[in-house]
Amino acid sequence: MNRLLSSLLILGLASVATSCSNRLAPHRDLLVGSAATEAPPPRADQVSVTYLGVNGYLIRSGATAILVDPFFSRVPMRHVVFKVPVQSSDTAIAHARRAGALPGRIDAFLITHSHFDHALDVPVLQKQLGGKVITSETGAYLCEAMGTSRSDLRPSRPGDLLHAGAAKIRVLAARHDLVLGSLPYPGLINAPLEAPPSTAADWRLGTPLAYLIELAGKRIYVESGGVVGHPPAVSGVDLAIVGTAVGDGKGRYAEAVRALQPRFVLPSHQDDFFNPLESGFHFSVLSDFPRIKATHAVEALPGRLILMDYFHSWPLP
Ligand SMILES: [Zn+2]
Repeated sequence: MNRLLSSLLILGLASVATSCSNRLAPHRDLLVGSAATEAPPPRADQVSVTYLGVNGYLIRSGATAILVDPFFSRVPMRHVVFKVPVQSSDTAIAHARRAGALPGRIDAFLITHSHFDHALDVPVLQKQLGGKVITSETGAYLCEAMGTSRSDLRPSRPGDLLHAGAAKIRVLAARHDLVLGSLPYPGLINAPLEAPPSTAADWRLGTPLAYLIELAGKRIYVESGGVVGHPPAVSGVDLAIVGTAVGDGKGRYAEAVRALQPRFVLPSHQDDFFNPLESGFHFSVLSDFPRIKATHAVEALPGRLILMDYFHSWPLP
């Protein structure tokens, strides 16, 4: 077993031991939104953001709907450690579609990178909901091997400008967090695969991407993480969704938020994605939200810090 996997196993045991103290309740003053099933769909001049767990978001305005990194088929950590195939769960997807009040039609999927906790469920969801899949070349080959038609895939690079419904989507360069000092499952895929991806390790990182979504007069930046020294290349956004899966990343959060100059900041990818969605939000032992919160206050970072619970929907003011 390599170092990353044995570390994950230890962290898994630690997360079981701390599972009572890692909920959102102590931070309720930062929570925004209400149950998605009770929220009215946004008008064409409004934008709503629904949190779907991990780095998953539904972003809607009028008839336009965009899904970012939707991942519902949680798998136990032992499946990752012991290389058991990871698979989409129809039951988990059906539950998430109901709880997140997902519309019956999606304009686009945005994938920040092609690890399984971002891309595994995209081929199944795309078959159900339609829409184009905006992803790296690696992500496109993985989705194609899972049955997504080439005509629905938009392999993209930083600098690309795309449209989905009423949204303008700018593709931006990004980096992936180092997890316990390593880049998990690195690698590019640049030719069609002979067999569909099976284990977590088959879902290669590819080229990480971030996105700027311009919709109904609002600018939303979304990424799934990064490293210090590579701040986002956009500034002046209404909402910054900033990946903080591994805590502060030695100052990376502050650097990113200073660059983005957002009105609102939503730290993302902080939950334990080995827990079933139905058991509710639990911070992962790798995340360190108290440190993010302290950094935000002590460094007087721009933007109001917010949090969202699973399947809550928030009209972006
Ligand atoms: Zn990843």
